[in-house]
Amino acid sequence: MTLIVQKFGGTSVADAEKIRAAARKAVRAQQQGHRVVMVVSAMGKNTDTLLDLASQVSEQPPARELDMLLSTGEQISVALVAMAIDSMGAKAVSLTGGQMGIRTDNTFTKARIQSIDTARILRQLDAGNIVIAAGFQGIDDDLNITTLGRGGSDTTAVALAAVLGAEACEIYTDVDGVYTTDPRVLPEARRVDVISYDEMLELASLGAGVMHSRSIEFAKKFGVPIHVRSSFSDTDGTMIVAEPESEAAAVCGAALTRDEARVTVLGVPDVPGTSLEIFSAIAEQKVAVDMIVQNVANQERADISFTVQRSDLDATLQALQAAARRIGATGITHDDQVSKVSVVGLGMAVQTGVAHRMFRALADAGVNIQMITTSEIKISVLVSRDQADKALRAVHQAFELHVEPADKKSWAQIRAERRKKTDVDDLVARLHGDELEELTLTGIALTPEQARVTLRGVPDSPGIAADMFESVADAGVFVDMIVQGIDGEDGRTSVTVTVAASDLEKCLQVADDLRQRHQLRDVQGAGGIAKLTVSGIGLRSHTNVGTLMFRSLADADINVEMINTSELQVNAVIDGDKGDLGKQQLNKAFAGVLR
Ligand code: ADP
Ligand code: ASP
Ligand code: MG
Repeated sequence: MTLIVQKFGGTSVADAEKIRAAARKAVRAQQQGHRVVMVVSAMGKNTDTLLDLASQVSEQPPARELDMLLSTGEQISVALVAMAIDSMGAKAVSLTGGQMGIRTDNTFTKARIQSIDTARILRQLDAGNIVIAAGFQGIDDDLNITTLGRGGSDTTAVALAAVLGAEACEIYTDVDGVYTTDPRVLPEARRVDVISYDEMLELASLGAGVMHSRSIEFAKKFGVPIHVRSSFSDTDGTMIVAEPESEAAAVCGAALTRDEARVTVLGVPDVPGTSLEIFSAIAEQKVAVDMIVQNVANQERADISFTVQRSDLDATLQALQAAARRIGATGITHDDQVSKVSVVGLGMAVQTGVAHRMFRALADAGVNIQMITTSEIKISVLVSRDQADKALRAVHQAFELHVEPADKKSWAQIRAERRKKTDVDDLVARLHGDELEELTLTGIALTPEQARVTLRGVPDSPGIAADMFESVADAGVFVDMIVQGIDGEDGRTSVTVTVAASDLEKCLQVADDLRQRHQLRDVQGAGGIAKLTVSGIGLRSHTNVGTLMFRSLADADINVEMINTSELQVNAVIDGDKGDLGKQQLNKAFAGVLR
């Protein structure tokens, strides 16, 4: 008998009628011969209501008590679902996170799953029950109730599917699948039949709220197919699997994080160890940092900018005060009126010209880009919040995301062509049962012979980035990393790209033309750098990756000149002479987690 996990989100159990509809789906699946585990969220907006109550009795509710409170939302709905199933003549038992043996660490409100003891669930299934599991919660070693972070029921569901060896994990929600962008923001968004783990992980982490990004880490690690579908109909939705929908498309989706904040640490001494101080202080608060941009040092000092979610801004600024003092930075500025717009696609790792298409679309829409960062499968730009929707629409249009790719594959086609065993099987074999959500690294690599070109004093107005990357692409130069950030006080920005050392001359020539055309302050090029890459799963959400990386490099007196992050890779640019030493350091630092 096959086992399936069915997860129902808040809107899908918002009232008695919807609870009965969800119950009917589970009963039907059982009647069709499946063993069924349901994972259920709190009813409707109940979690928000509880949070609001907490804020009314305390300005800063203790995190432990918040979890105690929030977990009750799910406890209500599992009991009601079990009653509904019972009334339909089937057998059901509801279980809280603790009762079903979900052990987590003790990071209240953001806890990670360590282990799941499946014995009790299996016993209940053997007895013919439908098991109704409370989503989003677990217990720590001291039996404190913990929660996994907003949207965390998805992670409960995929984790259960993984450890129970479920055939599939069905996510029932209020949309009928995954779209090229949030259909509530852009009605022209297209529902996709299939999306790859890597793309979904990156999109979810960059703002696509349809799935909790950590659930995709589980799915990828354990090879669990996820079916996202509507709880209000029976039509097929979107399959999240290892394969992408299209091999040819550069971009598969766009995402918006509306409530983002930019923080800049000014005048950071350009010596090894300063990034470590800054980012480890923030990582300790379990705040995920994105869009890290470090200006090339001017008079031995650099400005380091990055973004965090706006809700994490206060914690970030607090953590930064002491760190900034320790390293002798000259100040901290921030802007909480910004949004992040990103495009994601496996195809861009092998295609050129993706960046300038995005920047051109934004320029034509009159959107000014404040910061840019790229990684192998995503490009993110920071824009002012009042231009966020316009920016998202322009980008969605530019990549024609509303149109089906010509080489689009359906899930049926992909399934037919599937290899029996994927790399993931080997990875799972090497994971131990007590470290389910631990950091998983798959490789550490060195790319030598790189060069960097920096354009300084770029006027902060629409269209210049587009011109820049069109010119570079026309010259046939393949640009790897791109970062743009604020440069000094006059509102101008600096843009740094990395290219292969053999392209340095050509790229410098283009940069010099651009300098004259746009009255840039200056252009600098330098060879002799190397790129260190750490690859894995869920690297941005595991906030300690950056810390470990910076620490091990600082220990060997290696300065990090540039850095970019995604869920799949963290790249650091360092002095080329120290490439091998840097790689050795990282191998040592990550020895315990490299699989
Ligand atoms: P649930 O309560 O079922 O977990 P969520 O509200 O967490 O539901 O997620 C579903 C919502 O995610 C949709 O209503 C939609 O507005 C939003 N969403 C954001 N990005 C996307 C996307 N790319 N595709 C589909 N839905 C998206
Ligand atoms: N009820 C929790 C929330 O609203 C968890 C979830 O729905 O996934 O965030
Ligand atoms: Mg959700």
